[in-house]
Parts: sequence; C-alpha cells; structure tokens
Amino acid sequence: MDIVERFINYTKFDTQSAEDSQTVPSTSKQLIFAKYLKEELEHEGLEDVEMDEKGYIYATLKANVKKEIPTIGFISHYDTSPDASGANIKARIVKNYDGKDIVLSEGIVSSPSKFPEMKAHIGEDLIVTDGHTLLGADDKAGIAEIVQAMCYLRDHDEIKHGDIRIAFNPDEEIGMGAHHFDVEKFGCEWAYTMDGGDLGDLEYENFNAASAKIHIKGVSVHTGYAKGKMLNANRLACEFNAMIPDTELPETTEGYQGFYHLLAMETRTEEAKMSYLIRDHDRESFEKRKDFMEACAAKMNEKYGEDTVKITIKDQYYNMKEKIDPNMHVIDIVLQAMQETGVPPKVEPIRGGTDGAQLSFKGLPCPNIFAGGVNFHGPYEFVSIQVMEKAVDVIVKICEITAGFND
Ligand SMILES: [Zn+2]
Repeated sequence: MDIVERFINYTKFDTQSAEDSQTVPSTSKQLIFAKYLKEELEHEGLEDVEMDEKGYIYATLKANVKKEIPTIGFISHYDTSPDASGANIKARIVKNYDGKDIVLSEGIVSSPSKFPEMKAHIGEDLIVTDGHTLLGADDKAGIAEIVQAMCYLRDHDEIKHGDIRIAFNPDEEIGMGAHHFDVEKFGCEWAYTMDGGDLGDLEYENFNAASAKIHIKGVSVHTGYAKGKMLNANRLACEFNAMIPDTELPETTEGYQGFYHLLAMETRTEEAKMSYLIRDHDRESFEKRKDFMEACAAKMNEKYGEDTVKITIKDQYYNMKEKIDPNMHVIDIVLQAMQETGVPPKVEPIRGGTDGAQLSFKGLPCPNIFAGGVNFHGPYEFVSIQVMEKAVDVIVKICEITAGFND
C-alpha cells in the first residue's frame, strides 16, 4: 500500500477527541480506528502488536542485526481536534498545485492570499478537505509516515537497524496523550513524536507552564454608606492586573519571550476570581515570573490587609530542553538524517506544550518532527504528499544512523 492510500483510509475514521470527558479514550469512536490500525500493523508483519484498553497501541519492528543498538521509538496520535468536525472527511488530491486558489467546495476557498504557506508547495500534490471538516493530517499523517517507514525497512533488509518501537495514542488534542503512555513498556532510550507541521520542523524546546489562580476578598456595603467601609474586589482585580507589564503578554511577545496571560475573570464587589497562565522557555525566568505574581499579591495584602488576595500557583508542564540537553545526540541524529535526505531543518521553540514534553519528563527524551500538515484544526488543513514522503525518508534515515550510533 502506498502512503497516500494509507493516509486517506485513516481520514475516513472520525476520531475526534472531547474535552471534559470522563472516559479514556475521551470518545469511544477513537477505539474503532485503533482496532483498525492494530490489524493493519499485524497485517504488515510488525511484532508485539498490542493495544491496551485505553486505546494505546504499541508494536515493534525487530532489529536485523545482532550488535547492540539503542532501541528508539516513533509516536503519533490518532485523535483529531475538538475544534472542527472530523466526521465524513472527504479527502481530495490536488495534483501539481499551481499556486492559485483551491476551491474546496462551492463558496469555500483555500487561498494563498490568506494562507501564504501554500506557496511553498507549488508543484506538489496536496491532500485537501471539502471545506466542511478538518483533514486530520494532525496527526494521521504522522501515523501513515511511521507505518510506511516500517514497511520500507521491512522490505529493505540491506538497511541495518536496531529494534524500532512504534506507538499510537488517543487524546493528544485534549492534552492527555502522554498521560497513560506506558514509557516502561515502550522500552526506548529515546523517541520522536511525528507531530510537527511543515517540512523540516524540529522542535525540542517548549514552554515551562504554570497556572495562577487569584482570589480577592472584598467587602460589600450599600454604596450610599460605603465610605471607609467598602473594599471593592472589582477595583482590586483591576489593580492587580495593572501590575502585569503590557510588554509581557501573549499579544506582545514572540519567539523566546515569556508572558502572563489573564485567561478569565469573574468579579463582583464582594469577591473576584482571576486565572492566569504563566509561560517561559527559560526555567529561571519562569520561576521569577511565579515569584513576581506572588509579590504582586503580597503588595496588595500589605495595602488592603492580610488575606485580601490569595494566590495559588500550580506548575503544569516543563520545557523538554532540560531533558534533551544532556542527550543532544537525539537531535544531532535528526539533523544528520534531514541533511542526508535533503530536508532543510527549521528548529523553533514551541510556544506551548507537547506530548513529547510530558514524555521527556517521564524519562523518555522525545523531540517533535514534522508530519507535514498545514493549517491544523480547521477545514483549510492540507498536507503535501511529497512532504509526507520526505518524513518517511527522515524516519528511515534516523533508524539507519542510530544503527551506527555505538560504532
Ligand atoms: Zn498533533
């Protein structure tokens, strides 16, 4: 089977995950696809194919040499984003893209004037939607690439490699993909998620993240008789937020700049609740940001009385760079693989988190490599067939280079 057929077959399954679900996986329809995928892996001759009751699939391509080679892994998620429908996806191939508008269906147009990324794919064959659903290249392109690469290695015994483990999981889009991932069972020294965007993406730095909940206690008194008695929590909330520098917000930062984000607030005269996100790539300045918020609360308490402002800060996730830095060969191998397959690497810090970050802190260093999808999570999502093929080449090369790792 070629990669296009493989991928398009996958898109026919609705695997949308759901926030606020109490089950694992979050939607039972994901398991229907998981069973299909498991059978496909068995059919392709992979070994140790297993799927647990939560829908996590693990399999092995056995080594074809005797020597000691580190076991490495490749991971993708099969759920699609809750942000757009994933039902009745009608994938269509636009051959030899000419750089002009693509009419997805009547009145729905994917245009390079709106999505300049399309221009990078002139002359390639693009898989697009009918404009009513997402495509699900995030991250079924990653699955198709991994399976295709395993089949390629299976058919090309002259390429020497160690044990290669692969894993496919549900619920990445709701931030739960790594949660039930069995790192021990996976048994790899390091791994890669094939879940990045366009050609060459390589990510191994993400935010350190915390949430801060602020609770402000006011005193409500009849406004006519409030003098010297009222403590208006609405005003205190504004005062608190005014201490956050304007230059350190999501809307005023980029690249490696961290920020504070006022996510939600609910205020009355009597009490105010605010919730913030704290983000920074650098661990030290991340800690300083948390200290700063504590200091803001302390300042308010000094002015308005103890226990007026209560702050609760919780760490959410950390920058995987901390775990990658002592293992830079994990990145060097990808860079070499990209070079040997003619892929210009694009290394950029993620302004968010990834499953790989969580896995890295569970003991499995796990950077993220491009899968090829563009315009994720919406009806303008597309993937270039040639980029998917490049991703397959990169996976194969990584396995090959790793085989010489101990030489
Ligand atoms: Zn993804």
